[in-house]
Amino acid sequence: MLAFKLFKFFGLLLFFLSLGAPSIGHANPIKNNRADEIYNRFDTAEFLSEEQLDRLLEEYKNSLAPDDVIRQRLHIRLTCWNLPSDTNEQLAHVIAYADEYLRIYKEPTPSALQVDLQLCKTWQLHMLGKNDEILPELNEVVKDAYLLEDPRLIAEARGIRGSILSYVGNFSAALEDLITAQDLYETLNLPYSANLNLSELANSYRRFGDAETALRYLRKLEQNYLDKQLIYDANETKTLIGFSLESLGRYEEALDAFRQIHQYWLKENNLTAAADSSIDIANILISLNRLDDAQNALREAQKHVTPENDTSYSHMNLNLAKLHYKLNDNEQALQYINKAQDAFNYSNNARGLSLSLDLKRQIYQALEKWPEAYIALTEFVENYLALDKQIISERNAEMQVRFNTDKIQTENDQLIQQEKVKEKQLHIMQRNDSLQIIIIILVAIILLIVSVYAYKQVMRKQVFRQLALTDELTNLSNRRDTYAHGEECLKAAKKNNQPFSIISFDADHFKLVNDSLGHEIGDKVLIQLASISKSMMRETDTVGRVGGEEFLILLPNIDKDKAIEIAQRLIDTIAQYDWSIISANLHQTVSAGVVSYTDENELSPLMLKADKALYSAKAAGRNCVRVE
Ligand code: GH3
Ligand code: MG
Ligand code: MG
Repeated sequence: MLAFKLFKFFGLLLFFLSLGAPSIGHANPIKNNRADEIYNRFDTAEFLSEEQLDRLLEEYKNSLAPDDVIRQRLHIRLTCWNLPSDTNEQLAHVIAYADEYLRIYKEPTPSALQVDLQLCKTWQLHMLGKNDEILPELNEVVKDAYLLEDPRLIAEARGIRGSILSYVGNFSAALEDLITAQDLYETLNLPYSANLNLSELANSYRRFGDAETALRYLRKLEQNYLDKQLIYDANETKTLIGFSLESLGRYEEALDAFRQIHQYWLKENNLTAAADSSIDIANILISLNRLDDAQNALREAQKHVTPENDTSYSHMNLNLAKLHYKLNDNEQALQYINKAQDAFNYSNNARGLSLSLDLKRQIYQALEKWPEAYIALTEFVENYLALDKQIISERNAEMQVRFNTDKIQTENDQLIQQEKVKEKQLHIMQRNDSLQIIIIILVAIILLIVSVYAYKQVMRKQVFRQLALTDELTNLSNRRDTYAHGEECLKAAKKNNQPFSIISFDADHFKLVNDSLGHEIGDKVLIQLASISKSMMRETDTVGRVGGEEFLILLPNIDKDKAIEIAQRLIDTIAQYDWSIISANLHQTVSAGVVSYTDENELSPLMLKADKALYSAKAAGRNCVRVE
């Protein structure tokens, strides 16, 4: 029955344990909901002002328990990524921060904290334009992220490396990184990071010259932003969509996109940005030969674009040159194309320069200025060939990247699966730990129950034995126990060569007490006799009730003379006791026989002698002591 109950209890525990298991996870054992809430706000990267960032970081830090090592590390990572980083001094400060904590948390094998701080540091170096020196370092960081088998860090490391590679023009390697990161971000359900990375990916394809693929990614990105009501980001994306449509020759669609952007900026009252979109609109209109509309758009742009705004300025002048060339106003066109060429040269824009040189050549041709046309053509060819070579080598590499995409996806899947398996293993290990504790507790409970049961059994046996050896009425040793003690005393006396005496005493005329005063009074007399005699003896003596009103006193180490003295004192004390307490007119005496050990081997001959002595005392008139 007990076993069945335990089994049921155990089963129930298992059941609750299995319910609780998922929540155990490998979460931080220290609960801190507020800190986690703040962390999530950073993680989902909702827009936060600098003040809010500072305040939240401070609150996060202050909410941490001193022993919450996990969140303290997260705080360092968050801080690195959220320190102000607008000026060169601020960037240097972030790098110093990362370096300091990289030194403090230097460990033989890379940790997530180290990898993230390295990433944070390299990103700041990228912002400072030190791209060449950080790429080898970034390769190491990517390796470390793989060693840690942390999909999130792998995504971030490869995303950052991809962005930098794309920036320095290594598109094939950039795409491989960005595609990997994209796939991981989407699988890990990190939409903010996924969108940023998607924008990088689309940009890389566009820079690479694959407008079709760029367009596909850009449309996806725009939709993501619209779904989240991020109108500004959606609009920025639409500009890139316009460029891609234009390079695909889909002018009407491009025009539509740029017009929507123009409307947006007007509504936002950002006239510089609106002027930029006017330039884009004009460019399309020229391609569509709608020259009047184009001229209007460019006039609008000229009101707000200054030479300081070199990107807009160069494109505006290129479009003005195109327009005037188409309008057959070649002198004017030449002036604009020279301005455009200078601006493109200034901003190191090879593509813009190429377009300018090509147009310049056409303008000189129209003007029939052949030597100038030839120079422009030579410059154009040189420039174009350089660009073309770069594009061709990148195209070959791109084929390989596409071929690799499937492989990347499979690898990422495996990585995520591996992560899940590890998490499951952790669950199982934690559950096993809990099971062990429960088993230990159960065993302890069972042991306790068994011990209590055994203890009770022992106690009960002792009580039974006590009962079996005790006289119920007087609580003295009964006949059996007294005789057993007597044998022991005899043996001890013999062994140690010590004296041993026995007093046998019997209530006088006790039948009369019963007959005249009743059995109950008789019992009380017996109890009182036991009490008096017990109180007069030593702890080591045994007082036993061996018959109805017959008692025996065993006196180890007491010789005959001493025993006679004790017996005399006993009968005197009993005779002098105020028996009227029990019943008026009651007087109770006892007669005693004393015997001492001489050389007997057993108790019975001694007992016979004691009986004889007692009989002599009775015969001598009672209330006296006789010796044998
Ligand atoms: P003597 O002085 O010669 O010993 O006379 P006596 O009357 O004491 O001796 P006897 O042997 O004739 O009587 C003993 C009486 O003790 C008989 C019996 O009723 C009584 N008795 C024995 N056991 C108990 C008991 O447990 N309770 C009571 N109340 N009386 C008992
Ligand atoms: Mg008697
Ligand atoms: Mg008797």
